[in-house]
Amino acid sequence: MSNKPENLILITDDGLRLDGRCADEIRPMKIEIGVLSRADGSCYLEWGRNKILVGVFGPREAHPRRSQRADSAVIRYKYNMASFSVEDRARPGPSRRSIEISKVSREAFEPVILAELYPKTAIDIFVEVLQADAGTRTAAINASSIALADAGIPMKGLITSCAFGKVDGQIVLDLNKEEDNYGEADFPVAMTQDGEITLIQMDGHLTPEEIKKGLELVKKGCKEILALQQAVLRKKFETPVEEPAAEA
Ligand code: UDP
Repeated sequence: MSNKPENLILITDDGLRLDGRCADEIRPMKIEIGVLSRADGSCYLEWGRNKILVGVFGPREAHPRRSQRADSAVIRYKYNMASFSVEDRARPGPSRRSIEISKVSREAFEPVILAELYPKTAIDIFVEVLQADAGTRTAAINASSIALADAGIPMKGLITSCAFGKVDGQIVLDLNKEEDNYGEADFPVAMTQDGEITLIQMDGHLTPEEIKKGLELVKKGCKEILALQQAVLRKKFETPVEEPAAEA
């Protein structure tokens, strides 16, 4: 969030944003499942100009052994930005930001993964951001959800994620880069299929009323994303019902 150039208008008089979206619209999303042959589950997801690749490995024996838990699997989430994913080259290796995103994203999945079924093992979620355009943590969570399901990890349900923010004084869904840079607030959320919130973060200032309005928008966005996630999973895993042969 930086100072907005004086003549930059992010929302026009007719309520449209720079990329032509209305306040309650998410960016177009494309999801591909099972794109990595060495991973147990994987997903490639594009959301607007974001490009994210996720590989899931496990449950497999946790190493080092001292990291094992006797009563459940350990879930590990590693968010990494490729150095070429942003305008100014991202410095390779972990940063404060990537460590924080990895932590909150792992916590977003812990309530739904049935880790107690796999003591002493690890479930590894590796996120590579190939191209970033704001909302990479939410995009990565949506992709990770698909990759976990692709790996056959038992879960109570999918996790879906979307942010809302404040731009030119208005509450809008799913900020793009310009809106993230020059907006007044950014509020990423992740939730279960039943609408239980598993991640909430806030950058900027918002009133309780604005948060209430934003959360309504996020619920709508997450519902749309969930439908896309379910469609991709159905296409891969649903066995087609054979039509009974027509009588002669
Ligand atoms: N960004 C960047 N360099 C960095 C980190 C972030 O250019 O080192 C950009 C990138 O486009 C990212 C956006 O800033 O998507 C917003 O970053 P933020 O920390 O808010 O996380 P995100 O919205 O991606 O989850």
